[in-house]
Amino acid sequence: MKEVLVIGLDGGTWTLLQNWIDQGHLPELAALQREGASGVLRSTLPVVTSAAWSAFMTGTDPSNTGIYDFFYRDQASYAVRTMSRLQIRGIPLWKKLSRFGKTSVLINVPMTYPAEEDPNVLSITGIPTPNTQSPGFTNPPDLFERFHLNKDEYRITVSLPEYEGRYTELISDLKKMVRGPLKAAEVLIQQDWNLFIIHFFATDIVQHALWRLIDPRHPQYDKDQAAKYGGGLLEVFSEVDQAIAELLKRVDPERTSILIMSDHGFGPNQCTVHINRWLQEVGMLRLRPPLIRLGHGICKILLKKAGFTPQGFVGKCAEGLASIPGSILPTPLQQSIYSASRHILSSSPVGSNLFRLRGYVNLFEGIDWKRTKAYSVGTSGLIHINRCGREPGGIVSPGKDYEEVRNAIAAGLISLTDGRGRRIFDRVYRKEEIYHGRFVDEAPDLIPLSETVGCYCYPFLDREGIIVEAEGFRSGNHRREGLLIAKGPPFRKDQKVDEARIIDLAPTISYLLDVPLSRNMDGTLIEQIFEPEYLQAHPLGWEEAEEAGREAKSISLSDEGQMAKKLEDLGYL
Ligand SMILES: [Zn+2]
Repeated sequence: MKEVLVIGLDGGTWTLLQNWIDQGHLPELAALQREGASGVLRSTLPVVTSAAWSAFMTGTDPSNTGIYDFFYRDQASYAVRTMSRLQIRGIPLWKKLSRFGKTSVLINVPMTYPAEEDPNVLSITGIPTPNTQSPGFTNPPDLFERFHLNKDEYRITVSLPEYEGRYTELISDLKKMVRGPLKAAEVLIQQDWNLFIIHFFATDIVQHALWRLIDPRHPQYDKDQAAKYGGGLLEVFSEVDQAIAELLKRVDPERTSILIMSDHGFGPNQCTVHINRWLQEVGMLRLRPPLIRLGHGICKILLKKAGFTPQGFVGKCAEGLASIPGSILPTPLQQSIYSASRHILSSSPVGSNLFRLRGYVNLFEGIDWKRTKAYSVGTSGLIHINRCGREPGGIVSPGKDYEEVRNAIAAGLISLTDGRGRRIFDRVYRKEEIYHGRFVDEAPDLIPLSETVGCYCYPFLDREGIIVEAEGFRSGNHRREGLLIAKGPPFRKDQKVDEARIIDLAPTISYLLDVPLSRNMDGTLIEQIFEPEYLQAHPLGWEEAEEAGREAKSISLSDEGQMAKKLEDLGYL
């Protein structure tokens, strides 16, 4: 077997799909399940798209990729930055395949922006790509022109706030988000390739937005709306089912291994936790006194009056500042200049378009780091201790102090309950319980998991309340159990498989393409999906790990602002 076709259904879950398959709604997926091996694919912790896809492409867990969310704290400061491919540590599968002379096509895969500049990789990047005009959107940069594809028909994502009360339009546009990548795939699938990955992101958005309409037990269930729009979820999945049928018509079933997968599962989201507000309430996070905050505000206005404009050098300074080590420029000063620059950018006509973000610019503004022991970044409640020697202004000493603070927060989180008295978090993991990678020191110190209630955690400090109702288009949320179907000559037929893990896919795809597995991968071959005869005839090959060098590129501030805006429009901020 020399070809592998991977089709990603973002957030695809058996909870919904098995019923629909049994009712005859998704004929293509039903056939694949019948003719292949299928089961649960376990996602990463935290259960976030960016973390899961980075783990997928490297075969390693987040403590080796360094990706835990779409946002992260800049190492040299307390600035909140947007993740892109450039932050991923480790070698992605397609780079490894390229070294063995194998070619890949990637369509809409999350966390691939900016596109890899590799002659053996054709790529159209997925979220959080700033827009379809960005130079890094494709590899080669003229891919759309070269293959006579239409960019106007291609949607990477939608902006949810624009669809308030317009569910019919939302469902229609989500279906367009399926057809755009499909059209590109129908053309690119005719090229020579060894690995072809197409990902459908609309399935994630529709579940986040409309889960409450298919779940009568959901606190925000609305009978009338459910009757009118609840069918939207199946409509989007049916569109994907038809897209799969179109793609399968174009591959040779005797030579192609087909993997249908999701990066995580889905379930109801029954409340929102303002996690930094909670840390503030329990005394772990403190704000500067109001007068000092006012003083900072006045300084910023004066800076602006002094002619710091976004068209000038301020933008460049802001970009450069983040990379200056604290030993050269004292971190608090660096941080003030950085946030002042961003403030100016955000309040100018040009900048306001790029940074018209509720929380991105000011997320940590006002925090008194000298009195703050812990803080949270991202949307899954990840807790970082403000630790000496790691955070630029850390105040918690490693060892006993660190453990005391961490234990107190873990105990507090696990005892949090929602309005109905249910525990919000099923587990609160200490990082060493789940991570063993090379960069575990930088990992969040506590990783909460909300599977039963499925709450959404926002890091904002300017929101009312601590545990509140789920936001409008956030009535569904991620779960750890995604799905996997493997169909093709090497795979077992009509076979239920026990849990496989998302980190096992990179090693499994390497094996299918006769490329040795890297010893540094955390994942392993998913043996149970294979016919035993195939395994016997194809012994597993290994190679030492390649050194993963990071590219010396960086994302511009305006790109980063647009990426953050895209993520905000999806509810990730
Ligand atoms: Zn996802």
